[in-house]
Amino acid sequence: MRIVLLGAPGSGKGTQSKLLVEKYKIHQISTGDLLRQAVATGTELGKRAKATMNAGQLVSDEIVLGIIQERLSHPDAKSGFILDGFPRNIPQAQALDAMLARMGQPLQLALLVDVDSEVLMKRLTGRRNCGSCGAIYNIYFSPPKTAGKCEKCGGVLQHRSDDNEETVRKRLTVYQQQTAPLVSYYKAQGKLRTARGVGAIGAIFKNVTDIIEAQIRPLAAVMGQIEQASAARAKAAKAAKAAKTAKPAAKPAAKPAAKKPVPKKAAPKKANKAAPKKAKKAAPKKAGKPVKKAKAKKTK
Ligand code: AMP
Repeated sequence: MRIVLLGAPGSGKGTQSKLLVEKYKIHQISTGDLLRQAVATGTELGKRAKATMNAGQLVSDEIVLGIIQERLSHPDAKSGFILDGFPRNIPQAQALDAMLARMGQPLQLALLVDVDSEVLMKRLTGRRNCGSCGAIYNIYFSPPKTAGKCEKCGGVLQHRSDDNEETVRKRLTVYQQQTAPLVSYYKAQGKLRTARGVGAIGAIFKNVTDIIEAQIRPLAAVMGQIEQASAARAKAAKAAKAAKTAKPAAKPAAKPAAKKPVPKKAAPKKANKAAPKKAKKAAPKKAGKPVKKAKAKKTK
């Protein structure tokens, strides 16, 4: 399963990605997460990206494409992925298409999570992430039971440095100018589907998975059936080959079984052989005796 999740900052792509990862056991690749990691660990790349991220602007294509290329070259990417926050503009989308074509694994679906801009502002400025397990909360829509504390693991909740109102406004403008054109890009490829991203998280997720099932699963199911059929053919061929090679081995096993009746059959043969011998010997005796008896009777 190879999916791009499209949507404005705050549309809930990250939340939906995490649920999809759980359901379909595939990897989420978030350029935002990878960049934040680089900033937190203070790598050279992180230092270069930090100021741009805090200004709500897009990090250079050169940096982001380098990150993505490296991540997609990991063996686990072959089993499928959800791209979250990438691509962010047309050149990135074109570069992604080229990379996936080289890997022989074209994109299957671009799923837009669609949310109105006034909702986005509250979602972004109210967003809090757990620093330990990554769980996402919102102080307006889904606050934790204890302020600042993760309900799942007790970790400390963090407010992203680029989730302040001024930066959020810039990020939304950048989205409209640079990322929104990707909707037309993927529509032209016939890969775009849209899910309303407003309401309960579970209901949005149901909508998202329905789209995925309709778009990708039928193909996956057919591929699964083809694989099963060819596996069954291979198994049958292997069993037939094993049966052929097993035949000579079965012969010696059959021989002792065949030998058993031989002594039984041989016994009567011996008896038969013995019988004539006895008969031969007995014959003259028997023949002689009646003669004597007969003679005796006659003499009486
Ligand atoms: P996100 O978590 O996806 O909202 O990303 C946070 C910030 O990381 C963005 O505002 C950008 O500065 C940067 N960023 C993430 N992904 C990309 C990308 N594909 N291209 C350029 N910049 C990105």
